[in-house]
Amino acid sequence: MPYSFVEIEKEKTWVIKAVFVFLLVFYFLVAELLWIVTRMFFSSQSPFAGPAQLFSPGEFVIVFAVALAVASLHWYYSTRNMIADLTNLLDARAPDLGDTYHKMFRNVVDEVSIATGGRKIGCYVVPSSGMNAFAVSDLEGNSAIGVTEGLLSRLSRSQLEAVVGHEAAHIASGDSFSTTVICSLFGIYGALLEGINRITLGRSGDSSKERVSVGARFGAYLLVVYLVLLVVKGANHLLNMFISRQREYRADAVAVRLTRDPVALSEALYLISRGWRGVGVIPGSLSPIFITAPDTDSLSESEGIFSDLFSTHPPFKNRLNILLDMAHSDLQSLKSGIRTAPKTVVEEEPVELEGLSVDARRGGPFCPKCGQALSEISYEGAPAMKCRFCGGVLAASDVATRIIARENYLFPGEIRESSEALMKSHWRENPPNFFNVTDKLACPRCREAMERGFFTYGLPVIIDKCFKCGNIWFDKGELEMLQYLIEKSRNGEL
Ligand SMILES: [Zn+2]
Ligand SMILES: [Zn+2]
Repeated sequence: MPYSFVEIEKEKTWVIKAVFVFLLVFYFLVAELLWIVTRMFFSSQSPFAGPAQLFSPGEFVIVFAVALAVASLHWYYSTRNMIADLTNLLDARAPDLGDTYHKMFRNVVDEVSIATGGRKIGCYVVPSSGMNAFAVSDLEGNSAIGVTEGLLSRLSRSQLEAVVGHEAAHIASGDSFSTTVICSLFGIYGALLEGINRITLGRSGDSSKERVSVGARFGAYLLVVYLVLLVVKGANHLLNMFISRQREYRADAVAVRLTRDPVALSEALYLISRGWRGVGVIPGSLSPIFITAPDTDSLSESEGIFSDLFSTHPPFKNRLNILLDMAHSDLQSLKSGIRTAPKTVVEEEPVELEGLSVDARRGGPFCPKCGQALSEISYEGAPAMKCRFCGGVLAASDVATRIIARENYLFPGEIRESSEALMKSHWRENPPNFFNVTDKLACPRCREAMERGFFTYGLPVIIDKCFKCGNIWFDKGELEMLQYLIEKSRNGEL
């Protein structure tokens, strides 16, 4: 590896000092500005009486002390649990080792952390069907690599190894420590700002008077928060200027050295660049920790001093060209030779528990429709339960999200036909009344009555969900239809 432990520690200390000084200067300027404005309001003297008045030593010391206190508090609260704070914000979870894809990811990360000779690297999965990956490191030397569900299901093992190698390179070189600090200090607030924008934009359709007055009070409160966040976001942009686009090229090169496979990394980058990268789920202000900016912005795809300065990621075109040179290949042969996994027919493997047939365990959860014991199955690699008699499937809601993000099944003709027929039925004009369901099913896990409803608002597939334990019951074929329709809508065919 290109860096020694001592060098990384030196770099870390430098980053901590530089970022803290930035924070201090930032708050000093803000405090000074506020002080001047306050004096203009409360003083009868002209604010333009002379520079001596603006910088009296006593005032300078007070303003500096306030800035120092605020900067220290900001630093302390933002850097205490950086990995936990960022992964919570992304809703990222530890891999489920009962899931084939998650297990493969865990294995790849373990292999790569041995190859880089560093400490054990943590793993996270973001429940989004977009394609992206990130790395984070904290002050204590803990680090973690995260990938989205979409990336896991659409990359081959060698492509995944290349992406994990790229992220491990950021961790080993210390880059990921500086981006983690910057995202923790400022990116998190930018993410809140994006959230507020979504709420306020979503509210514009409200016409009820009562709601408007509540909305107005809420709005006034939001405005203050919004302005503060806007200032912080500006600071974030400034700080991002120090994140060199070079670090992405360096990490690409290290990943190739680790995996000895420049083709795999160029294929992975090509697939990520073509796909949806999770904008809307992944806040744009956290893009420094990601392998690629989630929102396609023309700035990051262009060259020149301006984009070098303001963009955190180099253009895909350049990254691909460098990798293709190493592989003695070109874009055309990359596109034609890309190895994508073939789709398999829907077929779940039953999971046997210690030689005992699952159906024989009489205590296990029972089918809410026909009362038979449910069998454990692996559905698109994810752990679920199935009734062998009526064909219904029980899945925890995070497992269902995972299954839907995956696109490795080839659906039989009958599923396609029934899904198309369902879409053509007049379900929008005559929506079912879910408020007086008389035959509620009992949750197989906790016996609570399950609520009936659409899985998602845009599609007519009706499911039963337990709000106590989060499990979802799909009647025979419902999960397949949902997968088929969501895949179609992702490809813009609905
Ligand atoms: Zn059944
Ligand atoms: Zn339940």
